Amino acid sequence: MHHLFDDRRYLIPFRSKLLPQIFTDVLVIGGGVAGLRAALASSSAGDVECIVVAKGELKQSNTYWAQGGIAAVLDEADSVAEHVSDTLAAGAGLCDEPVVRGVVERGSEAVREVVGWGMEVDRVVGANPRRAPGLDELSGLALGMEGGHSRPRIVHSHGDATGRALSDVLVDRVRAADRVRVFERCFVLDLITGDGGEGGGEVMGAITHHPRYGLQVIWAGATVLASGGCGQVYRESTNPSVATGDGVAMAFRAGAELRDAEFVQFHPTTLYVAGASRALITEAVRGEGAYLIDRGGHRFMPDYDERAELAPRDVVSRAILAQMARTGHTHVYLDVRHLGAKRFAARFPGIAELLAKFDLDPSTQPIPVHPSAHYMIGGVAATVEGHTSLPGLFAAGEVTCTGLHGANRLASNSLLEGLVTGRAAGAACVAELNGQPRSPQRIVSDIPLSERSELDLADVRSSLRSVMWRHVGIEREGERLREVEEMFGFWARYTMDKIFDEQPGWEAQNLLTIGALITRAAAWRAESRGTHYRLDHPETREEFHVHSVWRRGREGAQTACVEAGLPPMDTDEHG
Ligand SMILES: Cc1cc2nc3c(=O)[nH]c(=O)nc-3n(C[C@H](O)[C@H](O)[C@H](O)COP(=O)(O)OP(=O)(O)OC[C@H]3O[C@@H](n4cnc5c(N)ncnc54)[C@H](O)[C@@H]3O)c2cc1C
Repeated sequence: MHHLFDDRRYLIPFRSKLLPQIFTDVLVIGGGVAGLRAALASSSAGDVECIVVAKGELKQSNTYWAQGGIAAVLDEADSVAEHVSDTLAAGAGLCDEPVVRGVVERGSEAVREVVGWGMEVDRVVGANPRRAPGLDELSGLALGMEGGHSRPRIVHSHGDATGRALSDVLVDRVRAADRVRVFERCFVLDLITGDGGEGGGEVMGAITHHPRYGLQVIWAGATVLASGGCGQVYRESTNPSVATGDGVAMAFRAGAELRDAEFVQFHPTTLYVAGASRALITEAVRGEGAYLIDRGGHRFMPDYDERAELAPRDVVSRAILAQMARTGHTHVYLDVRHLGAKRFAARFPGIAELLAKFDLDPSTQPIPVHPSAHYMIGGVAATVEGHTSLPGLFAAGEVTCTGLHGANRLASNSLLEGLVTGRAAGAACVAELNGQPRSPQRIVSDIPLSERSELDLADVRSSLRSVMWRHVGIEREGERLREVEEMFGFWARYTMDKIFDEQPGWEAQNLLTIGALITRAAAWRAESRGTHYRLDHPETREEFHVHSVWRRGREGAQTACVEAGLPPMDTDEHG
């Protein structure tokens, strides 16, 4: 990675004592499931003040757009052991089994809790799934089936609007909580550490920007990073525009340990309508019996995998790419015609509505689909309780790498992770508060003005997203990855050396950082495993049965790659 990624500690120059100051016990960065659940946990622990910041409105999150549901063991016929075993199988050898067990065991309680708070979940009445908000108890749930699960265990709401229902309940509860303040449209630039600008010290809060109030410092006894994923680093993505990987990039700048950056999950089926955003067609549609067919009407998944449409996402995504290449077509189709119009509209009302907007009638026409980037598996190394490598910094949800997903995430395990780890991180950080408000420190960030010329930011952003999609996407190859690393070096020279005063500039710097990290990690992992597929190394190699660990260089300008049990990275090859 270019040394500018390592050199830069903060995105902007500032003097902390000259900025407006805000004080809180707990600062939560992110208003998705993980952040909101963490805020509720911290504020229920007695005399604790909490601030939640979100860069957009609270409903602008991956959480809000989740469709399929929440995986949890809620049926007598199911068991924790089976959910654990399915999660481990998907994770291709890189799951941390105690973490998987810890999350799965707390799943039913986590769901029970949000249902108790008023989240509507779909239930079966006779043979028909129906909303029954008045019913208590988790009986009669209409549990869905998704790829990689050996049993139906996906709780959903309003058919395909699980994220919205979950978000609405958590937002209402957070807004009603006495000790939680919510700052929307408040962009966090950086975590503040007391280490003289080196990074790696105690996290004491964050520096933020609000269009009305400008730059501010929020000093916090504990900071919970719950800033979600980074889908926007890819041209094709299911993620909303807020998902620019800011949290991972700021944690990297602050010196936190990152893990498994190479693992990004691609969703096989997003709506392919030229010019429209890549709206997700949930996995649950295949769970209900939809077929994948090519332009000739051939149902091709059984040719690639005996689990057919219910094979794990990486297998289905690659099969779609192969079939597109074989047929010379830009997409394939999801065929639900045999399910019947009424059943489809009842089970997936949101998708039916979306298709109608494009004059697509799924009862008579197959739905055009194409894979897209969906979920960041790697991230800030954290325990289930949210501890990271930095004192004062906790993390939860998609921004983390806890070891739950290994090399591939099992469908619907991430809302579960957000609920469980958000709650645990919120409780754990309160336990470590010392009862004293943090006193402001003198933190100085000086960044020399660059004399190099500028690149067009919009162009950099769109080029890096295209390059990531083409060469660091579903299929990767060593030579191409090294070329992409060089491109990131070029963009870094003209972009990472600049000081921007607005969100698009800061986001572009974060996208560059996360793109460079994913590329470097993908170049390092010379094997195929889970979501990471190398055309030049299609085999899984025992010597790579390890996590990749990444940290901003502490001495000089080297990125430290600490690979348990592996020789240091070949610097000639990887530059
Ligand atoms: C279309 C879609 C469908 C999905 N379906 C499912 C599903 O059915 N089941 C499942 O388990 N998972 C699903 N997922 C994945 C799941 O939704 C996410 O992994 C999960 O919701 C992440 O929650 P989170 O709280 O970690 O992050 P998010 O919900 O993404 O929240 C991130 C928050 O951080 C804030 N933020 C980010 N950067 C900054 C910054 N610099 N400053 C201030 N605030 C910031 C954002 O504004 C946002 O409030 C889906 C994802 C997508 C995109």
